[in-house]
Amino acid sequence: MNQPTNPAAPIRVSFEFFPPKTEKMEETLWASIQRLAPLSPSFVSVTYGAGGSTRERTHQTIKRLLTETDLIPAAHLTCVDASREDIDEVIREYRATGVKHFVALRGDSQAGVGKAWEGREDGYRNAAELTKGLKAIDDFEISVAAYPEKHPESPDFSTDIDFLKRKVDNGATRAITQFFFDNDIFERYVERVRRAGIYIPIVPGIAPIHDFTKIARFAGACGTSIPAWLADRFEGLESDPVTHSHVAAAVCSDQVLDLNKRGFSDFHFYTMNRADLVYSICHILGLRPKAKDEAVARSEAA
Ligand code: FAD
Repeated sequence: MNQPTNPAAPIRVSFEFFPPKTEKMEETLWASIQRLAPLSPSFVSVTYGAGGSTRERTHQTIKRLLTETDLIPAAHLTCVDASREDIDEVIREYRATGVKHFVALRGDSQAGVGKAWEGREDGYRNAAELTKGLKAIDDFEISVAAYPEKHPESPDFSTDIDFLKRKVDNGATRAITQFFFDNDIFERYVERVRRAGIYIPIVPGIAPIHDFTKIARFAGACGTSIPAWLADRFEGLESDPVTHSHVAAAVCSDQVLDLNKRGFSDFHFYTMNRADLVYSICHILGLRPKAKDEAVARSEAA
């Protein structure tokens, strides 16, 4: 289990990528995967665009991960603008390629940000139904989303946690959280979740800050709060990328090390397909590339 009996247990990471739109982006993605792969992530996940807009690209990326790397891929899947039959077909295609782990999501309204979700009559209406649909096809590993500051559409925490409970009752085996910067908020959320009788691992979603201005804007839409101390750390760094990236590595590694002290050991990184900052953070966390470890072991044995 992820937490919290064994403080400062060895850190394990997973990485999230998004499917590339252009050849250039594809090169960047694969360079990032190659740089991060030796850190032996537990799994790597690939997001799925609204309305299946990235369906083919997500599938291609997952296929390439399966054929060209030793990494364990997790395919994100949403309920947006597709019938149950369409989605079941996608699931079966994935299964035929060898995918065993899904991240089951509802997705968002295609009418635009802030518009209420309206599922299709013939579709899965939410992530709990999608989780059930996945389980009906095979005994997949299923991760779902969780919200330490509650989902913006949720009237209160108890409704939000009820939704998580439904996902778990339908077969979810892990929850990955929306990103957050205040560890106290996360810890309180996990306590609430446990009180609701949910015992699956709640894996913190960690967002390394590549661009503070952008992430602060995005956080507003997701309901993630930006603590004053965090804004203060990045103040005046808008046109100083080098200092910005050093500060980002320090802030993010501090966050993860603090969570680790509180007993959490698994962390899911939103990489934005960029490896350098994530790699530096993982180094500070004590992760070392596998090939080097093996080389050291070999030289020690000689
Ligand atoms: P659900 O679990 O179905 O519902 C989310 C919440 O909405 C519930 O907890 C509840 O609080 C509220 N809610 C839903 N229905 C109702 C209702 N009828 N009444 C009251 N409250 C309700 N999006 C993508 O498009 N592609 C991705 O690949 C993707 N990956 C993600 C990965 C992670 C780890 C996370 C955290 C999010 C991801 N998202 C992705 C975003 C996600 O699709 C949105 O947050 C979406 O708004 C909710 O999806 P969900 O699976 O949490 O939905």
